Amino acid sequence: MNPLLDLADLPRFADIKPEHVNPAVEQLIADARDVVARIENTEAITWDSVVEPLQDATERLGRAWGAVAHLNAVISSPELRDAHNAALPRVTQFFTELGLNRNLFERYKALAENAKLLGDEQRALLNHELRDFRLSGVELEGAARERFAAIQETLADVQSKFEDNILDATNAFSLDVPASELKGVPDDVIATARAKAKDAGLGDDQFRLTLQAPCYLPVMQYADSRALREQMYRAYATRASDEGDSKFDNSAHIEQIMALRAEEAKLLGFANFAEVSLVPKMADSPAQVLDFIRDITKRARPFAERDLAELKSFAASELGLTDLQSPDVMYASEKLRQQRYAFSDEEVRQYFPEDRVLAGLFRVVESIYSVRIVEGKASAWHKDVRFFEVLDSDNHRIGEFYFDLYARDSKRGGAWADSARDRRMKRGHLQTPVAYMTCNFPAPVGDKPALFTHDDVITLFHEFGHGLHLLLTEVATLGISGFGHVEWDAVELPSQFMENYCWEWDVLTHMTQHSETGAPLPRDLFDKMIAAKNFQAGLGTLRQMEFSLFDMRLHAETRTANRSGLLKLLEEVRAEVAVMAPPAYNRMPWSFAHIFGGGYAAGYYSYKWAEVLSADAFSRFEEEGVLSPVAGSAFRKEVLGRGGSRDAMTNFVAFRGRQPSVDALLRHNGMTAN
Ligand SMILES: [Zn+2]
Repeated sequence: MNPLLDLADLPRFADIKPEHVNPAVEQLIADARDVVARIENTEAITWDSVVEPLQDATERLGRAWGAVAHLNAVISSPELRDAHNAALPRVTQFFTELGLNRNLFERYKALAENAKLLGDEQRALLNHELRDFRLSGVELEGAARERFAAIQETLADVQSKFEDNILDATNAFSLDVPASELKGVPDDVIATARAKAKDAGLGDDQFRLTLQAPCYLPVMQYADSRALREQMYRAYATRASDEGDSKFDNSAHIEQIMALRAEEAKLLGFANFAEVSLVPKMADSPAQVLDFIRDITKRARPFAERDLAELKSFAASELGLTDLQSPDVMYASEKLRQQRYAFSDEEVRQYFPEDRVLAGLFRVVESIYSVRIVEGKASAWHKDVRFFEVLDSDNHRIGEFYFDLYARDSKRGGAWADSARDRRMKRGHLQTPVAYMTCNFPAPVGDKPALFTHDDVITLFHEFGHGLHLLLTEVATLGISGFGHVEWDAVELPSQFMENYCWEWDVLTHMTQHSETGAPLPRDLFDKMIAAKNFQAGLGTLRQMEFSLFDMRLHAETRTANRSGLLKLLEEVRAEVAVMAPPAYNRMPWSFAHIFGGGYAAGYYSYKWAEVLSADAFSRFEEEGVLSPVAGSAFRKEVLGRGGSRDAMTNFVAFRGRQPSVDALLRHNGMTAN
């Protein structure tokens, strides 16, 4: 039997081969299409005749495909990638068709109208599904339907051209300089620049600089030559704009993207694209988001002004820069940071051996949620993969998870948590959830344990927070258990919440042990780490608010997104937010890939939004004890366990007893008036 079709229990990872992928996907899609056809032809409109069979079929496809996508991400090979890429368009097309199936939509609608026959979870799922149907244009007829589809297609195309231009403009730039210009720049960056110059056939005293992050950032942070920093800054700040090479100018793309988004919003019956974007989000309206941004701006501004004043006076007295300009900011900041908080990641890393860190993480989770985590066995894709069970206080299994923590050549970069199987009550039988948690930490060398940087530890806690969202769910309806249908701007609440524990002294002392001396993390090093975290928090916050305000106003206001329109908006936003004016040639929007290329349109604020929620949720633990099982059980019951069964604001208020406040986040970032 094709192991991908064996969905009785955990995936049989060790047996899955690339040649299994396409036959399995074909069969599962064919089966699902049969089910859809049967539903379309049945008279009865009940949960059991419509939703349940469709969920069964799409879950089988989703789980098998999930295993394939997971393997392709963690242990890719040319054969597996080919098989994955061949199947991907079929899977995507199947789900797109499903979202546009008018017949199914009408049946879901009829079911929802008979809501009294349904339970709360069922009603919540139907509401989510109906909303998704509508946002995919299912209700449009005739020409409008065709136009909507054409807009989607063109948008995808122009958005990717927008990103291509940034990439091409970044890659097209190079600057050749002699060694004398590179004073202060780290040796490895210089060595790479020399190798590039050599490849280009340049003489021994030439060094080729680029705008790619591993070159651009260290040059801006360390190059003593102000003229060099200025040249690099200008090139970077004008990428893909009318101030740069006209071949890569994104002006027309931005105008087209904004026009298409506005048209899409109209077709769906909304006033502007910001409203469309906010439908699946926790924030209710553009006005609410603007208030949020302006509130934080107002409160962070005095700290940003203080940060800037400190930086200016440091630059003048220590660096001889009496008129600090934008191209000097990273340079002077790095010097100031070094002077104040001299410690290295390498020094900190010695205190975080893997087994201590995992024990510390599990101790936090076991204490606050009254669960036990025990190592188990399962078929896996690599010898380094570990498998764990989460048990409740009666030793009943709540869920299971895979840990795949070390970097490998065959693994995609970054860190993530994903569902292998969602919690679901299926014909009287409870299916428990299973999660993948994947990181890219350095593997142990020889018989020494793996040592994690503090950033690695934060990443681990973050992903574990996503994992707990899947594992500790109390919802039993597929689609809204775990993080299914959780509002887009609330999904990071459980993950960022967990990060707070990496900054708790009582937690860290238990979690650290020097690899040679065995000593826990010293208090003075911890204090420096906290201070370094909050270094220039005011300036950093305002920078995020500038991006957020630009994004939200652009999508919420009807205005022409041509060159002068964008510049005018940018000027207004900076007048309101920024404490330091960048040069007039700065063209930030022209390379703002989050909102013009990717999925953050009218959503950039969500980074801060989720930070506010997680800091404020954690502040209840600060009040009651960071390992308080009472606060923990309330957090699970009201927030973590709820999935998409209730809206995130109701969850939050139920847990915190009030609306979210930005106070805790500002305090955690060292921005409190005293
Ligand atoms: Zn995350």
